Amino acid sequence: MAAVKDPLRLLVELLQKVPGMGEKSATRMAYHFMKAPAQEVLGLAEALRRLKAEMRECEECCDVSFRSPCETCANPKRDPAVICVVADSSHIKPLERSGAYAGVYHVLHGTLSPMENVGPEQLRIAPLLRRIEGRPVCEVILAINPTMEGETTMLYLMDLLKDRGLRVTKLPVGLALGSDIEYTDHETLGKALRDRVQVSSRAT
Ligand SMILES: [Zn+2]
Repeated sequence: MAAVKDPLRLLVELLQKVPGMGEKSATRMAYHFMKAPAQEVLGLAEALRRLKAEMRECEECCDVSFRSPCETCANPKRDPAVICVVADSSHIKPLERSGAYAGVYHVLHGTLSPMENVGPEQLRIAPLLRRIEGRPVCEVILAINPTMEGETTMLYLMDLLKDRGLRVTKLPVGLALGSDIEYTDHETLGKALRDRVQVSSRAT
């Protein structure tokens, strides 16, 4: 029979799986929970349980959401003919904060990376193509971090999206090479969205 682990040690081990969480912070956090009121800690456990049970991918944009279609896709004020493609759900918030965008999003859930065996079939590229084929889309904005994987992904998408009668644009290189959308301030992102550059035309 496997030995039962001390729950404090187990929690420290599990917390260390959180990106950026070292042993010291994990231990401090575990002690905090041990001293915190039971209601607060059980509330957190319940929130984590619900996170796994109730969050799903939006059938339209593939963002993780409590509802499908998500709030953005279901919002009649958003323009469904303009799709901003992002690598990760966490990139939507900074772009929204810029206030410069009124279209919808599409989340790829990663970037192409042959080194890590991430090919097109691991990303939500097929659902993006289905969206484009299913309704009139006039523009796809590629808002992907300009890392090597990001650039490879954008080139792959540009090739897939050409000759489909839509405009393909990307954020200008003003977002310095290698810069991260998640940590770019809203003014810079707003300017980047307004100054987006066309990379392929509407020609069919
Ligand atoms: Zn959605």
